[in-house]
Amino acid sequence: MSENSILIQELYKNYGEVRALDGIGLEIPGGQIFGILGPNGSGKTTLLKIITSILDPTSGIVRVNGISAKDDPMKIKSIIGYVPETPTLYESLTPVEFLGFVGSIRKINHDILTERIYRFARAFEIEDKLNDFIGSLSFGTKQKVAIISAFLHDPAVIVLDEGMNGLDPRSAKILKNLLLDYVASGRTVIFSTHVLEVAESVCHRMAIIYKGRIVDVGTLRELRESAGAKDANLEDIFLNVTGDSDLKPVIESLRETLNR
Ligand code: ADP
Ligand code: MG
Repeated sequence: MSENSILIQELYKNYGEVRALDGIGLEIPGGQIFGILGPNGSGKTTLLKIITSILDPTSGIVRVNGISAKDDPMKIKSIIGYVPETPTLYESLTPVEFLGFVGSIRKINHDILTERIYRFARAFEIEDKLNDFIGSLSFGTKQKVAIISAFLHDPAVIVLDEGMNGLDPRSAKILKNLLLDYVASGRTVIFSTHVLEVAESVCHRMAIIYKGRIVDVGTLRELRESAGAKDANLEDIFLNVTGDSDLKPVIESLRETLNR
């Protein structure tokens, strides 16, 4: 197992009667952007919350850089940066205040923290918003602040749940480049999405999740090969692996445009 990798074995999660994860097994090496692609309700958010140790599994094993969430959840939290599906930000703080607050919880040296806040704000082109109230910002700008907050402590693993949500195409490209830089140094990015095109454009490898199970894993090329057609698109692959010919509505939802 490479140093920055996620190992998941026999992972189950029930919410009462609802089985959200149904025996997930997955190994994610460092140095790549790994996608979790699946329609709404397939278990992506549940899986990411268990990886980040926000949620306990019903059963199964999860190790992040060799550390089990069961043994040391605080250590896991310190090496992961997490962008939730619906980030919670303090509307009455400014981005500088909020990011300063996150940095102080993470015990980041003041000068390093300030340098990082301004570097990421420049990268995302929101320097002029840093002193506005978060409550006055657009959805996309709030998403950028949430993303920056996950990067501040320079984590070994970044987990983004539908991370392109609310970003315009230019910002989506900036995020993609940031993630590529990030994994170039051997670190790990896990990126969930329900949008086929996003997975196709951002991820080096991906797992397709459906009804709480991983139905296929690989690069787009490997997924095409397993679908038996080298020019197959993700839609064909998805139909092939789920073996469900009545999936039109699911495909439609996966095809949702980036900018809602
Ligand atoms: P996704 O992120 O792929 O949309 P989720 O992980 O949010 O999927 O949900 C997977 C399944 O678990 C869905 O059937 C969803 O309704 C159910 N679920 C998620 N969270 C809860 C919860 N807190 N209580 C009960 N059921 C839940
Ligand atoms: Mg979700």
